[in-house]
Amino acid sequence: MTTNANRPRLRARLFSLLVFTGASLAAAAATAEEIAIYAGKLFDSERGQLLEDRTIHVVDGRIESVQVGFAKRERQQLVDLRDYTVLPGLMDMHTHLAYEFGPRTYMETFTWNAADYTLRGVDTAGRTLAAGFTTVRDLGDKDNVTVSLRNAINAGTIVGPRIFTAGKSIATTGGHADPTNGHRHALMGSPGPAEGVVNGTDSARQAVRQRYKDGADLIKITATGGVLSVAKSGQNPQFMDDELEAIVKTAKDYGFTVAVHAHGKEGMERAIRAGVDSIEHGTYMDAETMDLMRRFNTWYVPTILAGEWVTEKSAVEGFFPDVVRTKAATIGPLIQNTFAEAYKRGVKIAFGTDSGVSRHGDNGREFVLMVRAGMTPADAIRSATWNAAQLLGAEDELGSISPGKHADIIAVKGNPLEDISELQRVRFVMKGGEVFKPVRAAE
Ligand SMILES: [Zn+2]
Repeated sequence: MTTNANRPRLRARLFSLLVFTGASLAAAAATAEEIAIYAGKLFDSERGQLLEDRTIHVVDGRIESVQVGFAKRERQQLVDLRDYTVLPGLMDMHTHLAYEFGPRTYMETFTWNAADYTLRGVDTAGRTLAAGFTTVRDLGDKDNVTVSLRNAINAGTIVGPRIFTAGKSIATTGGHADPTNGHRHALMGSPGPAEGVVNGTDSARQAVRQRYKDGADLIKITATGGVLSVAKSGQNPQFMDDELEAIVKTAKDYGFTVAVHAHGKEGMERAIRAGVDSIEHGTYMDAETMDLMRRFNTWYVPTILAGEWVTEKSAVEGFFPDVVRTKAATIGPLIQNTFAEAYKRGVKIAFGTDSGVSRHGDNGREFVLMVRAGMTPADAIRSATWNAAQLLGAEDELGSISPGKHADIIAVKGNPLEDISELQRVRFVMKGGEVFKPVRAAE
C-alpha cells in the first residue's frame, strides 16, 4: 500500500494515514507486496563486511532472499539503490522518547500532563525513524507513555521505530530515578513500586510485576547515582545485593531482560554479579569490572553522546542546577575513555545514545564518537545492528538483512566504512517493508 520511491516524506505520510479509513487499510494489507531492492553496496552485519551488487527481495514486510546481481521479477516494485550503501535498520539501545532535555525540563514535572509527554513522544519517535533508527530500547518514561507509543506505532496509526520499552525505571528512595528528587516531601509524598521506587526485596519484586502488568518489554534499574537527578552523588551504589537478586530473578520469570544505569564501580559490579543483561554508561568501570563483564557475558551500552552533551552544557552558566552541573562536568568527559578501554579489552558492546538527554534524531553522532575513540567503523555499525539484536534477544527477527527477518532497511549515499559520519545523513528508511523515507531524485 505504501511502498515506492515516490512516497512523500514523513509528515505527509502521517497525514495520509490519518485520513485512511480502517476498511481501506485492511483492503490494502490483503494484497501481497513484493519489492526488489537493488543495492550497489550492502553491509553484511553478521560478518562485518561490505558486499557489492545485490538484490534484496521483500515479500509482505519480510526479507525473502538476497541474491547476487540485479534482477527484478515482473510483479515486484523496484527500489533502486544502486548508487547507495544499504544497511540493516539502525538500533539504539538507550533512548527516552518521552523526554528531551532543555532549560525547562525540571519545571515539566510540575506543569506537564501525561498527554504532553505522549505528544512529545509522537514527535521524537518520528524524528528517530527518519534518522534511520528502525528499533529502539526505551529505558525510562513516565505514565507508561512509551507503552502506548509502541502500541500505536505497531498498529500503524503513528510513525516511529519498533519500541522495546522498560516503562518507568526502577530506583530506590532518593535514587537516580526517584521521580520526586529535589522536591519537598509535602508536595509529592513517597512514591512506591508502581512509580518505580522500591526498598527491600518485596517491593523490588512488586515493581517488576507491575511493569509486566503495565505492558513493558524489559526492566531498567538505576544501580548508582546519575548525572541529571537533583541529588549529590553521581556514582554511589543504590541497590543492595538482595534487592538486585530479587529484581533479576523476578524479571526472568516474566522473560524480561534487565538494563542497568550505572556510573560507579561498586554498584555496577553488584549488578553484574546479580546477572543483569546490560550496563549503561559504565563510567567508572576499570579493568577488573571489564573482566567481570566478560565472565558474566554482560553487554556494555556506552552512551558517549550523553557524556559529550552534559559536558558541553555544564559549561553554560545556569543551564543545570548547581548540584547537577558539578556531576556533569566530572562524569561527562570520562565516558569516551571508558568506552575505548572496554572495546580494547573485548567487552561486548551494543550501541546506545541516551537520546532524550541529547536531541532525538541526532542518534547517528554516537557512531562518530565511537570511531573517534578507536572502534572500527564496521564494529560500530555492528554494535547498532547485529549486537543490538542479540541484546534484545531478537536476532531471529532483526539486526541483519537475512531471509525471514523484518525488512528494516536503510541507505546512505557514500561508504560509511570510509566515512562513518554518513550515518548522520540517512537517505532512505524502510521499516517492515514500508518506505518511510524515499530517496530523492536530486540526491
Ligand atoms: Zn538514560
